[in-house]
Amino acid sequence: MTPFREFEAFAPYPNITLESDRVHPFLQGSAKDALWAASRQVPLEDGTPMLITSAFRTIADQYVLWRSAQAGGCADAARPGASNHQFGLAIDIDNRSVWHQPLVDAGCVWLGAGDPVHYDCPGEPKPEDAIIAFQRLWNLNHPDEPLEDDGAYGPATEAALRRTPLSGFAVDGCTTCEQRCDGDFLIIPDCRRLPCTTGCTEERFEAQCVDTPQPEYIDPWLRNRIEENANVTYPPPKRIKAPSRRVREAVLDEGCAATGRGSSWLTFGFIALLLRRRVR
Ligand SMILES: [Zn+2]
Repeated sequence: MTPFREFEAFAPYPNITLESDRVHPFLQGSAKDALWAASRQVPLEDGTPMLITSAFRTIADQYVLWRSAQAGGCADAARPGASNHQFGLAIDIDNRSVWHQPLVDAGCVWLGAGDPVHYDCPGEPKPEDAIIAFQRLWNLNHPDEPLEDDGAYGPATEAALRRTPLSGFAVDGCTTCEQRCDGDFLIIPDCRRLPCTTGCTEERFEAQCVDTPQPEYIDPWLRNRIEENANVTYPPPKRIKAPSRRVREAVLDEGCAATGRGSSWLTFGFIALLLRRRVR
């Protein structure tokens, strides 16, 4: 992975004024050096500082300008990923009558009457950087639908740009957050907000999602027995025949006497049998 070209802040600097706080005051180091060299060519006491209306643009800035130009709103704007503003090489200025020659002398190239405010300053165009930066930022915020960070401005990247919130992404990839719970969400150090399906807790050493409950452990042998028994079919219980009416009445009338009498006759018969055998 090739590293991004590092941009350097060119303002605040004497004789350089930004038109608004929407101007991102960043350029490649070589372009910044040329701008600073030009700024020293006009005496400060002239009171005509270079008024910069645009410098570095994100791919989102360029997309808005490009769409606006297509709709007939603004002056011509390059397609996202094709503008020197995204490479940290270009500036637009408002008071060209004062600053044209100092900028040209410092090595910046005027684009011409078609875009009279625009100058390209020394540096190496690196079109893919701005697009890769956006693709990675998108991926940080949409890990579930990532873009390929190939630096190419294709349909998927353009579709993602259209869905980018105007207020910016929740995670900027630069700031860090303290790991903490926010309701059922876990905020992690890169500031992503992850949903916890079983809640978030700060009770242990650091905030984390509550563990998903695991099924209770059952010994494998016991589990086999349970499964085996689940397939066994037991015969239906035998029906117990109700006692006859005669027996029920006998029990009700005489309690256990009927049974007692029966066993008495049985005992008598048994003794009689023994006696008969002895008599023989
Ligand atoms: Zn421009």
